[in-house]
Amino acid sequence: MRFKDQDYRVEIANDSMLELWGTTKDVVINKPLFNQLPELKGQGFEQLLEQVYKTGESFSAHEAIVEVSRKGKQQTLYFNFSYDPFRDNKGNITGIIAVAIDVTKEVEARHKIEEAEERARLAIESSNIGTYDIDLVTNNIITSKRFDELFQLQQGATRQDVVERYHPEDRHIRDAAYEEALENGNASFQVRILLKDGSVRWIKFHGNVLYDKKSTPVRLIGTALDVTPLVQIQRHKDDFITIASHELKTPLTSIKAYNQLLFLLVKDGDQITSLNIIKKSERQIQKMTDLIHNFLDLSRLESDQLNLDKENFDINDLISETINYYYLPENKERLRFKKSEAPIIHVDRKKLSHVIDNILNNALKYSDPEDPVLITSGIDKQSVIISIQDRGKGINEFSKNKIFERFYRADNTAGSTSGFGIGLYLSSEIIRLHGGRIWFDSTEDQGSTFYCSLPISDK
Ligand code: ADP
Repeated sequence: MRFKDQDYRVEIANDSMLELWGTTKDVVINKPLFNQLPELKGQGFEQLLEQVYKTGESFSAHEAIVEVSRKGKQQTLYFNFSYDPFRDNKGNITGIIAVAIDVTKEVEARHKIEEAEERARLAIESSNIGTYDIDLVTNNIITSKRFDELFQLQQGATRQDVVERYHPEDRHIRDAAYEEALENGNASFQVRILLKDGSVRWIKFHGNVLYDKKSTPVRLIGTALDVTPLVQIQRHKDDFITIASHELKTPLTSIKAYNQLLFLLVKDGDQITSLNIIKKSERQIQKMTDLIHNFLDLSRLESDQLNLDKENFDINDLISETINYYYLPENKERLRFKKSEAPIIHVDRKKLSHVIDNILNNALKYSDPEDPVLITSGIDKQSVIISIQDRGKGINEFSKNKIFERFYRADNTAGSTSGFGIGLYLSSEIIRLHGGRIWFDSTEDQGSTFYCSLPISDK
């Protein structure tokens, strides 16, 4: 297409150009362009043409945006175009030759791919998955931000930096997986990585190998996901089954032995010792019943089915009853109950009894057999407060914000005593369901005091 003179009369325009403008020869030929196609005004073309006209310097643009109106519809198009000065015999500029190529389809297709890539990137980032891309020829690695976070790496880390993060005992798993990947095209494995602070994380990798035309592996693209919480839950479950079988087996063995003894004692007519053995046996049965109650509450809680069956009662009665009902004489002697006048409360009696029993059991379990345990009840503003104090091992700083977590057991106590790490979790959930609060004060090697507060109801 050629423009003539400074009012940019259209001297020549080929069919493609006319189609681009959405016009016909008789509308534009020999007529000033911007008069005939006013929608092109104000988009910077006049200034560009003027510049070329005045300076004689060519101009070209890549993927320039042009707003055109076609069949009355406004459209955004993309063009690669160039303006070159056209000179007469004497070298004077008399017009401009314009060449334009419509690249709208290509640009829109690229935008779509970019948008899809952006959506995929956002999805990957929000799912916490790190990604990596290894050039198998140069051994260079490109990692995503999340991947660097997972591995605690600086941006631009090398493949060697990544390899060094692998737990030494698990490196062979990765080596074997990659070797296999070169054969069958993909790698899927789970290993531990060792972070700078010495902590260990479990990472699940999935990678796919890309090949060139000669079927040589050239790239390995993959994802890395932190599965540490899942691995921990699996561990807890495995531990749980082992401990549960053990904890249920121990009282059963005792009951079996008591029964055999009873058989002999009854035969001999020794009533007093027999009664004593029956009481001991009862306590073992109670232990198993408590355990099963805790398991049932746990599974009801997990499935949101822990319902409260509330009634009115005196909290002091419940505490006395729990002590009398649950505890053998030797333990009862360690328990001191200092009650103050408490109002009637409206809560689930059985479940609150489990809470008191869980905390009392811990107080006895985590202190020496001769140390006393003090229980108090009282009122503070609109709440009833129960406190249970021991002079036992206490809770270390590290464990303080963890002991209400499901399955958590502190190192300083767990090794030496039996338990599941669910008693305090259940207790805190039961108190929370009642709109109350549970907390504690503790100093290692000096003891702990656990508190529960429950709102006084007006029912
Ligand atoms: P467990 O069955 O292990 O006793 P809990 O949920 O009742 O489970 O308690 C969680 C952990 O909190 C215990 O393993 C123990 O480490 C710590 N703990 C609870 N009560 C006490 C206490 N009175 N003194 C010291 N440590 C305690």
